[in-house]
Amino acid sequence: MNKLGLHALVWEAGWSHDECARAIAKTAEVGYDFIEAPALDPSLIDPAFTVKQLEKNGIGINFSLGLDFDSDISSGDREKGRRGKTKLEEAIAVCRDCGGKYIGGILYSAFGKYTVPPTKAGIAQSVDILREVAATAARSDITLVLEVVNRYESNVLNTAAQGVEMVKRIAAPNVKVHLDVYHMNIEESDIASAIIQTGEHLGYLHTGDSHRGYMGSGTIDLAGVFRAVVNAGYKGPITFESFSSRVVGQPLEGILGIWRNLWDDGHDLAAHALMYTKAQLKAAEEARRQTLERSRLL
Ligand code: MN
Repeated sequence: MNKLGLHALVWEAGWSHDECARAIAKTAEVGYDFIEAPALDPSLIDPAFTVKQLEKNGIGINFSLGLDFDSDISSGDREKGRRGKTKLEEAIAVCRDCGGKYIGGILYSAFGKYTVPPTKAGIAQSVDILREVAATAARSDITLVLEVVNRYESNVLNTAAQGVEMVKRIAAPNVKVHLDVYHMNIEESDIASAIIQTGEHLGYLHTGDSHRGYMGSGTIDLAGVFRAVVNAGYKGPITFESFSSRVVGQPLEGILGIWRNLWDDGHDLAAHALMYTKAQLKAAEEARRQTLERSRLL
């Protein structure tokens, strides 16, 4: 069974002691296996305090972040590359000290709107730095998952196929593709086929809907998504990610364009998403059994 997680932004905009304690307690109360905490600035996370809250509530943690333009490892600029590598190493240390096993997000470029396409040299720099950082992560049994996002959030990985190619170039066993159905809905020609074709390279999944509100209240064919996830044999973590102007603060609000209030009650949203995800996975597994076992001629 896939471990099911919830993005901390459903509850809190930051990771102060109070925010951390509330977000972890509420995530556990709803029934999730883990929380995904944003680590845009890893120095704002207190690992010892975080671990205490996780142990008290009996759930796990994973992290996600995006680099900024000043630490963009795909820029081709040596200094920016050095700063990006340092930030990724800081995130690995925080993840290790909190007992996390996955760091996802836009680890390969800046997280934001580019005005120019990437360069071959910039992508080569990103591949080289990620290969080095992956070796550090491997020593703590941490997997780096590269999130494929829409064109307004990076110019490097916008399709699952590009994600697979990048992971193959890095060629480290602990670097995998991180897919997000919200982004896929913008960029992929066929979401289900893209998930199947990512196959064994898929290491992390973000669910949500087309407007990032309640699952099933948007336009994405989520039944088709979950059937593809099951048919791809994917057993890794699945995190529900949703943003409302009710919670999100800067810089995420500005980068992601969170202007509308899509929900007020985070608890209701999170409980619904957990129920919805479990129901979709169950339905997809039954559909697969119907196809493989129960539709045979006697
Ligand atoms: Mn995402």
